[in-house]
Amino acid sequence: MQSMAERNTSVDLGDKILVTAALPYANGPLHLGHLAGAYIPADVYVRYQRLRGADILFICGSDEHGVPITIRADKENVTPQAIVDRYHAMMQNSFDRIGVAFDNYSRTSLPLHHKISQDIFLNLYHKGFINEQSVRQYYCATCNRFLPDRYIEGECPHCHKQGARGDQCEACGRWLEPEQLIAPKCKVCGSSPELRTTKHWYFRLSVFQKRLEEWQNSKADWKNNVREFCSGWFQEGLTDRPITRDIDWGIPVPLPEAEGKVLYVWFDAPIGYISSSVEWAQKQGTPERWRDYWCNKNTRLIHFIGKDNIVFHAIVWPATLMAHEEFILPDQIPANEFLNIEGKKISTSRNWAVWVNEYLDVFPPDPLRYYLEANAPENKDADFTWKDFQQRNNSELADVLGNLINRSLSFIEKNFDAKVPSAGNLSDADRAVLAAIGESTQRIGAALDSFQVRRAVGELMDLARIGNKYFNDEAPWKSLKIDRGRCASTLNTTLQLQAALAVLMEPFLPFSAEKLWRMLNAPGLHRNQRWSDIPNLRISDGHPLGKREILFGKIEDEVIEAQIAKLGKPAN
Ligand SMILES: [Zn+2]
Ligand SMILES: [Zn+2]
Repeated sequence: MQSMAERNTSVDLGDKILVTAALPYANGPLHLGHLAGAYIPADVYVRYQRLRGADILFICGSDEHGVPITIRADKENVTPQAIVDRYHAMMQNSFDRIGVAFDNYSRTSLPLHHKISQDIFLNLYHKGFINEQSVRQYYCATCNRFLPDRYIEGECPHCHKQGARGDQCEACGRWLEPEQLIAPKCKVCGSSPELRTTKHWYFRLSVFQKRLEEWQNSKADWKNNVREFCSGWFQEGLTDRPITRDIDWGIPVPLPEAEGKVLYVWFDAPIGYISSSVEWAQKQGTPERWRDYWCNKNTRLIHFIGKDNIVFHAIVWPATLMAHEEFILPDQIPANEFLNIEGKKISTSRNWAVWVNEYLDVFPPDPLRYYLEANAPENKDADFTWKDFQQRNNSELADVLGNLINRSLSFIEKNFDAKVPSAGNLSDADRAVLAAIGESTQRIGAALDSFQVRRAVGELMDLARIGNKYFNDEAPWKSLKIDRGRCASTLNTTLQLQAALAVLMEPFLPFSAEKLWRMLNAPGLHRNQRWSDIPNLRISDGHPLGKREILFGKIEDEVIEAQIAKLGKPAN
């Protein structure tokens, strides 16, 4: 086997990479939009970099503060803590079952997170990056409190529908300020609030505009959606932003004159990446080790997010980090576009969504991972349809990848006593397949290095197609009768391709990768291998194979139709 040309990649072995995925909001279960936007792309990237030998830390946690949680708690007549306990547990369980393997999954209601957020607030405050401003805000005299935007409802000034919220009208989709509402009412008691003067604390974002622009100009490899979004904000000019709110659920503002105020959720949520890393280090028994990542300029910090989060991760959060000065800045922010369901925007309130836990009660995890990888909303919004999901499962996973493995393994079982037939003398066709492994490995790696999961998984499926074509062309069922040595060489080559696939599949289809290496009876094959070794992996002649299983089952029409019928119906 010739050695592969040296690969030219942006990450060297042993380099440190800190990967985060947007903290999901603990106000409901996970749906497919969440997975497609941030978690599957991040998990694929992390699994690939681990195989490359990178020193990687993969961090996430539940975002457990903010007004939607208190509103939900009021509605259900339970505490906000009960709400976040329920959804934190559900989300963690869904991540485990779909194979998104964080090193730590924390939660922002932990005292550790409160302390770190308050420390960062005070650090910025003492440096003069946070100041106090007087503002006019609605006050409910009946409830005796200032009302956050979402606690105010009224008539929309644009479409004149009732029930528009202080921050947005759901009917026409426009963003609003509470003062724009016609006949505003307190959402809790229904009385008319009055404008009163109060104080809020503002982060001086405007101070950082020039530095942020210079920093982003050095990031030529960022995705266009992120760069364009930010340049729009820069053109308008960054303004200082309030970072405190008037609710009693959240992190208390650590100033005596701010009693009753908490930190705005967008200020504390990204700090969750740091506190989750600290929690991880504590659990490892090496409490300072998080600094190896966060305070090490050789670490690449990569934030996987959906496009709705760009402003926080590419502007506000880096400015917070610049103000604080002790931590590294993001190196990459691969933001994805949205996933629609059957041609319509996901709406959790109308149950126009596919919930991850409900999916997993019916189907195995890998077909969904595959679909969201092959149909990732990388450069534009993508559409999930159940029929397309069924089609890709049946005609790609089952008929291409699964079929290659199943028919060759069953042939070897029947004719070669379930042992690896000898390689013998390789033909040009055999060598071409072995060379294709090296080329695909290189292309998949290059695509993943530049966050193109869709292209990468396409290359994986193309390699399986090469295998199927080779198997058909070589027709071992014919050579078996006339030239057993040639037949053995074909099967041996097919098995070497499968060994490569058992590693190449690991980032995309981790459960099936593990199943395949069990079938090849090659313990540790897919995880203990190095990406660079894939082209030269060889299973030796005579090696006994494991028990054959079906890798991907077909999905029947009735099963899919039952899923389609559930869409948009009230959840039970
Ligand atoms: Zn409206
Ligand atoms: Zn009220």
